Amino acid sequence: MSVYQHILLAIDFLPEDDQIIQKVRDLELLTGAKLSLIHVLDNIPMPDTPYGTVIPPDTEVTNTMLETEKQKLNRAGDMLGIDSARRWLIWGEPGKEIIRIAGQENADLIVVGSHGRHGLALLLGSTASSVLHYAKCDVLAVRLQDE
Ligand code: AMP
Repeated sequence: MSVYQHILLAIDFLPEDDQIIQKVRDLELLTGAKLSLIHVLDNIPMPDTPYGTVIPPDTEVTNTMLETEKQKLNRAGDMLGIDSARRWLIWGEPGKEIIRIAGQENADLIVVGSHGRHGLALLLGSTASSVLHYAKCDVLAVRLQDE
C-alpha cells in the first residue's frame, strides 16, 4: 500500500499555485494517491450564507465573482484530472474548512503553499500555519518562490 491514499490540495488562486500543482502532480505519480482540490471563498460578500456552505463547481451561478472562482477551481482541477465530485468550493474560513473537508473525505495528506512569512504575519496567523497546527493528518507545506 502506498504511503498516501488521498491528497487534498488547497489553493488560493495566486500565480504561485503552479508550483504547488506541479508538486502534487509529482506526488500523484509517486504514490498513485487519489486527489482532491479545495478553494475556500473568504473574499466574496455572500450575505445569508452560513460558513461551510458548499458551492457545487458544476452548477450555474449568477454571481459573476463566484463564477470566476468556479472557473479557476475547474481550471486547476482539469490540469490535475481531478474528478468534479472531488473539487470543493466552500464559503468560509480557509484553515477551518480545509481541515474539515480533509477529515470528512479521509484525506491523509493536505498540501498547502508556504510563503515563508515571519514576524507579524506569522503572529497574526496564516492559512498554512493554521492547517499545520490543527490538521489531524500529515501536511506538506510547499515553500513558494516569488514568481
Ligand atoms: P497563506 O497562509 O494565506 O499565505 O496561504 C498559504 C497556502 O494556504 C496557500 O498557498 C494555499 O495552499 C492555502 N490557502 C490560502 N488561502 C486559501 C483559500 N482561500 N482556499 C484554499 N487554500 C488556501
